[in-house]
Amino acid sequence: MLDVRGVVKAFGSNVVLRGVDLSVEEHRVVALIGGSGSGKSTMLRCASLLETVDDGQVLLDGEDVTDPRVDADRVRRRMGVVFQAYNLFPHLSVLENVTLAPTVVHGRSAAEAREEAHALLARIGLAEKATEYPDRLSGGQQQRVAIARALAVRPRLLLLDEITSALDPELVGEVLRVVREVAAGGMTIVMATHEMGFAKQVADTVCFLDGGVVLEHGPPAQVLGDPVQPRTRQFLARVI
Ligand code: ATP
Ligand code: MG
Repeated sequence: MLDVRGVVKAFGSNVVLRGVDLSVEEHRVVALIGGSGSGKSTMLRCASLLETVDDGQVLLDGEDVTDPRVDADRVRRRMGVVFQAYNLFPHLSVLENVTLAPTVVHGRSAAEAREEAHALLARIGLAEKATEYPDRLSGGQQQRVAIARALAVRPRLLLLDEITSALDPELVGEVLRVVREVAAGGMTIVMATHEMGFAKQVADTVCFLDGGVVLEHGPPAQVLGDPVQPRTRQFLARVI
């Protein structure tokens, strides 16, 4: 479904991605791991067209979405993206956060969007928080709402960038539970994560990003348990 082919991305003289290849099949979960500054966020931003690529291609359902003639807004509407923190619109209630894009961007009726939002909020265990404002929620609750908001547009693909890294440790579990549930529901997910235990549990494939390329990829048991590359071993020895 998502094919990243030879993507190159530099910021000035800093070449961050030097030819990244990544293939994600429908209903699969791919975890991106790698050191700080290895380019995980840059990779997700290129895939979601928040950054332009310098070379290479991103194909979504076979369409080269990095082609400059492609309407990037139309492509972005097919993806749900959640970042580290501070995702929600502070001046909107939880329900309004979740219904905004479906109504304004996707042109669904308010009634339909509300009904779907209530169902999503129930699914993430926050049905009773619909009228609350984000600053009245814990960080973990906010991230769960951010996931619901991303799902509300019925995306083809969900991109998650270290969505638990700004949370207190005791709040990480509830957010990861929601991701696990969404993955079990068949959503296609690419997630940058430093939660190796979680990657092991939910990812079908783990990709280790190092030196601007995917140095090693494979099933979690192999990449995390018995990596081939010395660099992967070094990285895991530091983080686990
Ligand atoms: P972390 O684990 O800390 O989140 P990361 O793997 O997500 O790291 P990136 O955020 O993708 O790494 O950053 C990769 C490199 O690109 C870093 O050297 C960073 O300074 C640089 N970089 C990222 N975004 C920009 C930008 N908008 N302008 C300039 N440099 C950038
Ligand atoms: Mg990052």
